[in-house]
Amino acid sequence: MASFSRNKLNLIIALGTLILVVGCMCNPDRNGSGDISRLSDENTSSDRSDSDDTSTSGSDSEDKDRKEDEGDFIVQSTDVENPNFESIHREIKDAKVLEKAADKLNRTLILPHDITLRTKDCGTVNAFYDPRDKSITICYELMSHLFNLYRSDGSTVAEANERMGKAVNFIFLHELGHALIDSYELPITANEEDAADRCSSYICIEEMGDEGVEWVVAAAEAFYIQAQNRKIGKGSLADEHLLEEQRFFNSLCMIYGSNPNKYSGFVEDGLLPEARARRCPSEYARTAKAWESLLEPWRKD
Ligand SMILES: [Zn+2]
Repeated sequence: MASFSRNKLNLIIALGTLILVVGCMCNPDRNGSGDISRLSDENTSSDRSDSDDTSTSGSDSEDKDRKEDEGDFIVQSTDVENPNFESIHREIKDAKVLEKAADKLNRTLILPHDITLRTKDCGTVNAFYDPRDKSITICYELMSHLFNLYRSDGSTVAEANERMGKAVNFIFLHELGHALIDSYELPITANEEDAADRCSSYICIEEMGDEGVEWVVAAAEAFYIQAQNRKIGKGSLADEHLLEEQRFFNSLCMIYGSNPNKYSGFVEDGLLPEARARRCPSEYARTAKAWESLLEPWRKD
């Protein structure tokens, strides 16, 4: 269903690959990872009250939906305070991981204002989009947390690094989803956290192919492992994020729905209940169509 004639976003973020190649989270974080119940953006993502209101009035040209390009993805240089993260910080910086991602995004997407990208040590396990300064932050603590999660699941150091890098790509694209929802003032009618997950899955699966599917799988696995490690309480139920179990099944549903024949193993192996799987192709098609339509006016030719 989701056929795309226009240019693909071509979002080769490459964060995972580069971290795998040049970085090693061999120095597991020893601080702050115990109090985390969510894998990403604990806060700030949905507060749009102080939006810049950079209105992008459509031009009077024949393509009245075409938007003005008035901003770029820009990379903010940061300093690292926690010595545990000095190595990964330097490697990401030297490899220009964020600069390359920003370059790809800038060649692909029109922006009404600048959006800042940064990696840093935050003092907490998190990744988030902040609508106040229009920035996406990926915390090294989150990378470390993911690394430890995969290690606890039996992965070797190399495997845990690889899985971490893939999951970070999914999370980066989730935060990009928040950024685009805010910046483009996209009309999201349901839970924004779920919409951001689906934006990420859409980009991973449609734009990145098999590699992107691995990013969704890695994130789904992290949701699953994390679900085993916590009790569901009022806080989880009241949280704007879906439960990790739901995010796990939704991720599998997106992948399966994109190609039921290719991913039939999800159902055969009992990972995805058949009752849900049956609806996934139409669910995926609707999701992909929605994001394709929402992003269409903002794509560069
Ligand atoms: Zn989010």
